Amino acid sequence: MRHFPIFVDLANQRVLVSGAGETAVAKLRLLLKTDAHIEVYGQTPADQIRAWADQNRITLHERAITHDDVKSARLLYGANDDDALDAGVLRLGQSAGILTNIVDNLGASQFITPAIVDRDPVTVAIGTEGAAPVLARKIKSDIEEMLPTSLGILARIGQAFRGRAAMLPMGRTRRNFWSRFFFERGPAALSQGGDAAVQSALYDLLGETLTQDTQSGRVAIVGAGPGDPDLLTRKAANLLHEADVVIHDRLVSPEILELARREAIVIETGKTGFGASWKQDDINAEMIKHAQDGHTVVRLKGGDPVIFGRLDEETQALTAANIPFEIVPGITAASGAAANLGLSLTKRGRNSSLRVLTGHDIDGFADHDWRALARDGEGAAIYMGKRAARYISGRLMMFGANGATPVTLIENATRADQQVIRSTIQSLSDDLNAANPKGPVIMLYGIGASQAEAVLSQSKQGIV
Ligand code: SAH
Repeated sequence: MRHFPIFVDLANQRVLVSGAGETAVAKLRLLLKTDAHIEVYGQTPADQIRAWADQNRITLHERAITHDDVKSARLLYGANDDDALDAGVLRLGQSAGILTNIVDNLGASQFITPAIVDRDPVTVAIGTEGAAPVLARKIKSDIEEMLPTSLGILARIGQAFRGRAAMLPMGRTRRNFWSRFFFERGPAALSQGGDAAVQSALYDLLGETLTQDTQSGRVAIVGAGPGDPDLLTRKAANLLHEADVVIHDRLVSPEILELARREAIVIETGKTGFGASWKQDDINAEMIKHAQDGHTVVRLKGGDPVIFGRLDEETQALTAANIPFEIVPGITAASGAAANLGLSLTKRGRNSSLRVLTGHDIDGFADHDWRALARDGEGAAIYMGKRAARYISGRLMMFGANGATPVTLIENATRADQQVIRSTIQSLSDDLNAANPKGPVIMLYGIGASQAEAVLSQSKQGIV
């Protein structure tokens, strides 16, 4: 992010525009939405600029801008449509230390004006670092459509009510109050009875909320899927928007954590500053503490919490503490990885069952029914198998597995940095050592790369 978005208070501040032609007019239309003192400098002003000057909405100086003009301005725009003149404006701005924008010249500008969706007091600013104006326009029109024009009216009435709403306890109660106002009661009241009805809806809703019991906290144990944020369930995304506290594992990708509310407390349990993992008891205590404070806690786990997610330890602790909870499943690493490669985890005539195994359990390398697994036509998704690879292949070979049985290893499945290693039981350990993957790896035993995979990867490169 080269340009950091901020909203600048322009009330009673001087904003200067050098240039008085059509380019300046377009910029002034936006600036006139603010309460800034706008000064325009230019020799042959467009009619519109003259008209604004006559209405006292801007101050017009029919001459070139000078160094003395620029002092104490908040923002300076170069809108001369003339590179040499605008370069002079930039120098003036720089020498006076005033933030300067040269219209339609990203490289020469110190700040840029984003595309804006205006539902004052709600303003949405869209920036693409100049990379894709088409994209900004599309996003703007989508957002224009998404935000009802009444939103500005509701927000303004709501703003005047903020002091009264402060009677409500901070946090979820107050948030729920506003969310019900903006999305349920407010729009309904506005369409039925205009501003007055919106006012009384606010009082009614405040009364109802004050008489409700303060709500108790709860926990949602939520699957974040293997990494691609588009693989989140809708329920997971909604809960993330709602959560006061998010307690997540290291496996959860940063793009997904971005979906949490900005005010939410986000706690990573994967490791502390010293690199050690949190103990399960500490994680349980953390969830319980925040829920007892009345918060909505999302316990976010990689993949599906019902697969190797230490789910029971957490649900038992919550039950013992009398905290209500729900479990939201996610896409497990094996499904995500297989789908991404165009593979099926089961296949007629190849494997009619699929085992879900872990390479590790609390006692170290996990033991399994190796004899059964070694038979032809077995399929397994092996989690946490990286370090146990030599042990697993040794066991399987010892129990008579065909060394050529395919094993497909997928590192960082569904993420941008996904890597696929095609291996066999015999060469598993060597192949892993050679590739030395640093991220999580899921192993699909008995499931090899297919033709579908070739087609899929070609189509991703745009060949098919
Ligand atoms: N609940 C998770 C599994 C947790 S155990 C799930 O359903 O996916 C942790 C193991 O999951 C890792 O060691 C790795 O084997 C696998 N895993 C999780 N996310 C992965 C990913 N994005 N790519 C590859 N393997 C992954």
